[in-house]
Amino acid sequence: MNIHEYQAKEIFSTFGIPVPRSRVALTADQVERAAKEMGGHCVVKAQIYAGGRGKAGGVKIVHHPEQANDVAKELFGKKLVTPQTGPEGLKVRRILVEEAVEIAREFYLSITLDRATSRYCLIASPEGGMDIEEVAARAPEKIVREPVDPALGFMPYQARKVAAALGLKGDLIGQGAKLLMGVYKTWWECEASMVEINPLCLVDAGEGKESLMAVDAKLSLEDNALYRHPDLQAMRDLGEEAPLEIEAAKHNLNYIKLDGNIACLVNGAGLAMATMDIIEHFGGRPANFLDVGGGATRDQLAAAFRIIIQDANVKGILVNVFGGIMDCGVIAAGIVAAAKETGLPLPLVVRLEGNNAQSGRQTLAASGLTIITGSSMADAARKVVKAVGSK
Ligand code: GDP
Ligand code: MN
Repeated sequence: MNIHEYQAKEIFSTFGIPVPRSRVALTADQVERAAKEMGGHCVVKAQIYAGGRGKAGGVKIVHHPEQANDVAKELFGKKLVTPQTGPEGLKVRRILVEEAVEIAREFYLSITLDRATSRYCLIASPEGGMDIEEVAARAPEKIVREPVDPALGFMPYQARKVAAALGLKGDLIGQGAKLLMGVYKTWWECEASMVEINPLCLVDAGEGKESLMAVDAKLSLEDNALYRHPDLQAMRDLGEEAPLEIEAAKHNLNYIKLDGNIACLVNGAGLAMATMDIIEHFGGRPANFLDVGGGATRDQLAAAFRIIIQDANVKGILVNVFGGIMDCGVIAAGIVAAAKETGLPLPLVVRLEGNNAQSGRQTLAASGLTIITGSSMADAARKVVKAVGSK
């Protein structure tokens, strides 16, 4: 689960990570009032579940409250397209108004899973900011990695090492190490899958002093741990999530939209993955991952069909069900009912195997619907790829 930048910053403050003074706003008038509170000179930031806003015009520095109002009017309701949103973009419905800070240097900082070592890893770079991907490609030596030992946690000596690697000097090493421990603590306590601060900034603190501050904030939470964090769960903004995925979650379906044109309806995550692979093997492209689970009910099947059909990219459906505890007869009746309910506007290939498969196949054959049956997984995959290809 993702949360907004402003929410991540609220959480950061509770863990002692310095963030700029800010206020979130839902209307242009609220933006103007907040800008007045910040003294006029401030940063107006679109709140969407995607980064890359700076280059897309979603982060603007303004000098007067009226200017903040103008920028807000332009941003609200606009679909912001960044390299992370996809071509449709994301609609701006919230804006963060933040005091503008005088930035001397921009660093990169994150904690994320390193799949190569199967460990979480703290990643830092003295050259952060909007071109971090380019730094990683051009000068990989400028990216510092410190693994988080799963038994010991992130150690204070590692924090000092990273602070020094960022080029911090004097008092700032201690301040940096403290901030890094705060980031680690945030990640640990929230059971986050990723924390990212880009940029982490060295800012003018007045009287010739400089201090560190998280100017951007990203926090992704581990879905499987969310039940332990009702306060974090309450931060979910469904408006930012894919509507079909929300609908699927309501019916306890594991659904993830992909960009192919063959919809899959499968019971069990392992079989769902194998089904996607075999579709690819025969030259097709799966339109989704959809696992109806071990005990799919008629209602779930109907919901699954409705969701699949709402995806305009879908040109064919493959149902691949292995009846273990589940009775294929019941599944077949559910498929027939769902197909009749939705009018079955697309070619449908069904492969049923296992418990009571024979009776299931008879139910499909007797339904009067044009359902293509597959005798094996390979046969079904071949047939659906062909049906879609000829469309
Ligand atoms: P992103 O592009 O979605 O990652 O959005 P960021 O929050 O990182 O903002 C983009 C850029 O705007 C940052 O890299 C900063 O350079 C700049 N920026 C953000 N806040 C401030 C600020 O308070 N003062 C100044 N001078 N620049 C800022
Ligand atoms: Mn950023």
